[in-house]
Amino acid sequence: MITAKLKHLLTNRDEVRLQKFMRSSQYWSEEEVRAHQRVKLTKLLVHASERVPYYQKLFKELGAHPSDFSELETFKTFPVLTKSIIRENFEDLISTDASERGLIKNSTGGSTGEPLVFYQDRRFHAFADAARIRGWYEAPGFKAGETMGVIWGDMRDVGDDYSASQRIATVLRSGEVLLNAFNLSEERMYRFYRWLCLFSPKLLRGYVTALVDFAAFLERRGLALPTVKGVVLCAETVSPEVQRYLERVIGAPSYNTYGGRELSLIAFECGAKMGLHEVSENNLVEFEPIETSHAENLCEIVVTNLNNYAMPFIRYKLGDLGVPSKKGECSCGRGLPLIERIVGRTTEVMRFADGTAIAGEMFIHLMKDIGLRQYQFVQQDENSVTLRMHRDEALDGTLVNRIREVYVPFLPSSVKLKIEPVECFNKTLTGKFRFVFSEIARDD
Ligand SMILES: [Zn+2]
Repeated sequence: MITAKLKHLLTNRDEVRLQKFMRSSQYWSEEEVRAHQRVKLTKLLVHASERVPYYQKLFKELGAHPSDFSELETFKTFPVLTKSIIRENFEDLISTDASERGLIKNSTGGSTGEPLVFYQDRRFHAFADAARIRGWYEAPGFKAGETMGVIWGDMRDVGDDYSASQRIATVLRSGEVLLNAFNLSEERMYRFYRWLCLFSPKLLRGYVTALVDFAAFLERRGLALPTVKGVVLCAETVSPEVQRYLERVIGAPSYNTYGGRELSLIAFECGAKMGLHEVSENNLVEFEPIETSHAENLCEIVVTNLNNYAMPFIRYKLGDLGVPSKKGECSCGRGLPLIERIVGRTTEVMRFADGTAIAGEMFIHLMKDIGLRQYQFVQQDENSVTLRMHRDEALDGTLVNRIREVYVPFLPSSVKLKIEPVECFNKTLTGKFRFVFSEIARDD
């Protein structure tokens, strides 16, 4: 759209410069990327030790100096930051010069509990915007001025509903045709489809399960979308089977992304499909191995944001699980390190009374032999797991027996598999769907 294109051309020069920088830095070698991170990390640690009361105290207690942690190997020994530490030390985590940096309040959506509030500065947001432009738009081949269809669930980002004039105004202003993922009725999806036909977007972006609902709707109705260059997947973990399903129905490659409000975009997929490239100019990603049965190389993800000086998040455990890549360089030529895959949340690891820990990924992986599209495995105590499935499907005795046959051998013998028929599934406050979660796992 012309207005969106004009807006892009008139964007602040610093933003344009940063976008240009990140367009080029993604093709540095991995050594150059790591050297760049070391420089940024050293600066951040010095700033934290001088201007952030929480870290001033921490360095004092450790009897250490920022230079003791500025190599990536030694940095692994620096204490981690958790949600509960942030809540308990909120004021002390804000730098004494934060007001000069521009304090912008933000929070998580509280998908697994109480929302976490924090501050980010102008520099953080400038890098976050540039990272999104590169990872969400440029990597799938989207060009400034083109239109995008967006199915989004966070009410802070999208309005409740749109009149025709509001919708046109939104498209002219932002280039985005929006659908609220909270309310995906047949009628709303059809209206969205009609608007997509009218504006011919070049890219679709959205919450994974909402995109799956929309794809199933298109399939059911036999509707074809205008040709898009790709589908960008955000906010939820996605399995390869779901990616293939979306690609088949929408008729375009899918691009997985990984991020969070605390740290902005952390990784994005390129066309070579060798994993997700870390956004190394923004975040330093580390992997801490965790022990579970039936899952190899599973790690807890620890992230340091290198740009937010107002409230530094250093070695922050955001509660996500992933597998680091062993593939080396990506054939796309980008030197940004690769993550093999994002697996889910730490709250998806079920820990049972006999000490066995099972990653949520296993529950999702086994479902491919059964084929339920919507279901939830929930752990409410140490001796059982409940599978919530649609009331209609739960009435099918053969299906229920098949589920027991597949899952029971993987569970400790003391653990009961319960099946609970439900009318509908609960989503989180931000509209995310969780296939697996443990109500007894701590989220800090
Ligand atoms: Zn690549």
